[in-house]
Amino acid sequence: MSRFQRVAILGATGSIGESTLDVIARHPDRLGVYALSAHSRMDRLAEQAAASNAAVVVVPDTAARQRFLAAWPTGRAMPEIRVGAQALADTAADPACDTVMAAIVGAAGLPGALAAAQAGKRVLLANKEALVAAGALFMQAVRDNGAELLPIDSEHNAIFQCMPRGDRAGAPTEPARGVRRLLLTASGGPFRRHDPQDLHDVTPDQACKHPNWSMGRKISVDSATMLNKGLEVIEAHWLFAMPAERIEVLIHPQSVVHSLVEYDDGSVLAQLGQPDMRTPIAYGLGFPDRLASGVSPLDLAKAGCLEFDKPDLNRFPCLALAFDALRSGQGACIALNAANEVAVAAFLAGRLRYTWIPRVIAAALEWQQQRSSVTLDSLADVLALDAETRAYTGNLGLA
Ligand code: NAD
Ligand code: MG
Repeated sequence: MSRFQRVAILGATGSIGESTLDVIARHPDRLGVYALSAHSRMDRLAEQAAASNAAVVVVPDTAARQRFLAAWPTGRAMPEIRVGAQALADTAADPACDTVMAAIVGAAGLPGALAAAQAGKRVLLANKEALVAAGALFMQAVRDNGAELLPIDSEHNAIFQCMPRGDRAGAPTEPARGVRRLLLTASGGPFRRHDPQDLHDVTPDQACKHPNWSMGRKISVDSATMLNKGLEVIEAHWLFAMPAERIEVLIHPQSVVHSLVEYDDGSVLAQLGQPDMRTPIAYGLGFPDRLASGVSPLDLAKAGCLEFDKPDLNRFPCLALAFDALRSGQGACIALNAANEVAVAAFLAGRLRYTWIPRVIAAALEWQQQRSSVTLDSLADVLALDAETRAYTGNLGLA
C-alpha cells in the first residue's frame, strides 16, 4: 500500500492517538486524517481536528457535541460531527478511509475495531482488550474480509517484525513455520522490586509512574500489576496463533528489547528501539515501507547493560491469572478483562486498594467458571458476558 492513506483514529485524544497524529503530520505526502474520535476532552479534539483538517469527528453524545461546537475556532470550516457508538463503528467502516487506528482503551474499543476488520481496512491495533475479549471473532473477521492487521502494541509489533517473511500480514491459523517460541519482554513496572506486603497503600499516581513509557492511566496501572503483560500474552496467542505454553514472559527493566522470536534452529531475533510508541505506529502506517517517526536513534553504548529475568508470579499474581484465563477459554478471558477494567477504574478513583485488583479478577474468574458455558459467537454475546462480569464485579472490595 503506497498510495495516499486516509486514516481514522479511534481514541485520538489518548496517548496512542496523540502519537499517531504526530507521525501522520510528518508525512503529508502519503498520510492524511479522515476522522478522529474522542470520549471526553472535546477541547483537545477540536484542536486536533483543526490542526489535522479532519473531515469527520465522532463524539459520544449530544452534550459532547455542544462542547465540541463551543471549542471550535471561529472562521474555520467545521468537520462533520457524528454522534454515538453506532456512528463510531460506521466511521471505522467508512469507505472514505483506508486505515483505522484502534486506540480506544478497554473493551469499549471492540465494536469499532471489529467494524474496521469487517470492512476490510488496514487495522492498526493498539486496543489489545479487543483481542482479549473477542480474539476468535476478531481474527475471523480479518480473514473473512481481507483486512490487513498490523499490531501496534510494542511487543507484538516487535514480534511481527521478527517473523519470517511471507508470514507477516493477515491472520494466521497456525504458528509460523520454524518458530519455536515467542518471548515477550516486560519492564516489570514501578513495583518490580517492592515487597508485595508494602503495596497496600499504593496511590494511583505511584502506580502510574512507569519507569520507561509514558502511557494512559489504565494501561499504566496494568503495567504495574503486570496484568498488561497477561493481556499481551493473550493478544500474542491470537495474533500469531501461538499456544500459551510457547509464549514466555521475560522481565527486561531497560525496555530496549521490545520482544523476541525464537526459531527451531536456535536463532533468536529481537527488535530494539527507544521506548516511544511512534516507532511501532510509523511501522504500521508505512508498512511495508519504513517511515521517519521522530524517534531519536537508540544509543546502545548509553543503554549499557541489558538485563533479563524470569517474572515472579507470587509478586505479580495478575500475570498468573491471565495465563489461567487463556488456558481456560474465551469466557474466562472476557471475565478477566472486564473485572480488571472495573477494578482499575475503582482504584484510579480512590475506591479500591491496589492489592485488591488481583482479588477482584480472581473472584470474577471463579464466578465465570461456575456459570454454565455460554456461546460467544457474536459481538453481542461477547458484550453481554462483559456487561454481566462488570455487574458482578462492581461492588467487590470497594472502600
Ligand atoms: P488513553 O487513556 O490515553 O486514551 C484512550 C482514548 O480512548 C481517548 O481518546 C479516550 O477519549 C478514548 N476512550 C476512552 N473511553 C472510551 C469509550 N468508552 N468509548 C470511546 N472512546 C473512549 O489510552 P492509551 O494509553 O492511548 O491506550 C489506548 C489503547 O492502546 C489501550 O488499549 C492500550 O492498552 C493500548 N496501548 C497503549 C500503549 C501506550 O503507550 N499508551 C502501548 C501499547 C498499547
Ligand atoms: Mg505493550
